[in-house]
Amino acid sequence: MHDNWITPEGFKTGIEEVAPKVYAYIQAYGELGVSNAGLLVDREGSMAIDALMVPSMTRRFLAAIKKVTNTPVTRLVNTHHHIDHSGGNFLFRDAEIISHTYCRAEIERTGLPVDFFQKRMPRFAAEFPRLKLAVPEVTFTDRLVFHVAGREVELRHLGPAHTFGDAFVYLPKEKVLFAGDLAFYYVTPLAFQGHVGNWIKVVDRILKMDVDIIVPGHGPIGGKKELQEMRTYLVMIRREAKKRFAAGMTAEQAARDMKLGIYARWREPERILPNVMRLYQEFRNELDQPLDVLKMFEGMRQLRAEWHAADAPDTCCI
Ligand SMILES: [Zn+2]
Repeated sequence: MHDNWITPEGFKTGIEEVAPKVYAYIQAYGELGVSNAGLLVDREGSMAIDALMVPSMTRRFLAAIKKVTNTPVTRLVNTHHHIDHSGGNFLFRDAEIISHTYCRAEIERTGLPVDFFQKRMPRFAAEFPRLKLAVPEVTFTDRLVFHVAGREVELRHLGPAHTFGDAFVYLPKEKVLFAGDLAFYYVTPLAFQGHVGNWIKVVDRILKMDVDIIVPGHGPIGGKKELQEMRTYLVMIRREAKKRFAAGMTAEQAARDMKLGIYARWREPERILPNVMRLYQEFRNELDQPLDVLKMFEGMRQLRAEWHAADAPDTCCI
């Protein structure tokens, strides 16, 4: 199954200009810990969108930035608190860091649990101890607009979705939207700290916006077509999980029972388990409770082992 992923053409690591002086920085192949970023270049100073996770990633991003501009990055947006978007914050020394209020609170609350990251993402274990905590300095709740050198940059939050503090960055003139983890393309969305029902509504609102290009948090650059495909996944798992919830199945049973169709070929399909676990919390009105993360990782490991039983065991481990 693991070599069966959909990999659109041009899905490779690197920086790409998606509108004049607007860049997407993509990391192939978008798996756990491997996210995308953005850059808006202006004469007075540039704005980066997300900082990636470990120093080797952030340094590659910074090197790519140097190739397209000499101006320093003076602003950095965190689209949400997850470490693969905020771990590199401390390497943007000249930047004021901006996020949703909840995102800041979560970064401050969780700090840097190095052991936990090393166990969950062993591929990057050597780099986690080098991280330094850098918490956002400016926060907003619904909307914050920057007017820089004739360009409008809107930061917006439309309610709980992938997390409870997601922000996206919208450029109305350029019709470009940096979605953070509100969008996953060809990589299975992960809702373990989110709200699937509301995520669908947030996607609906984005689909109504005047946007041509959407840079997802994970996966290649796309647009509304890919966002619609991701929406279909969320709608499907919510509907199918609800049936199984009503029939008295456990989340683990439901996740195994559900047919993923084309989404079995999106990377990390085992995320169906945390997604169903979270949906069960949604159905029980328990979204204020954290998901049992250890149980979730163990469950995903088991699912991978079952699905990959005929393959080499080392295909699993990030
Ligand atoms: Zn995330």
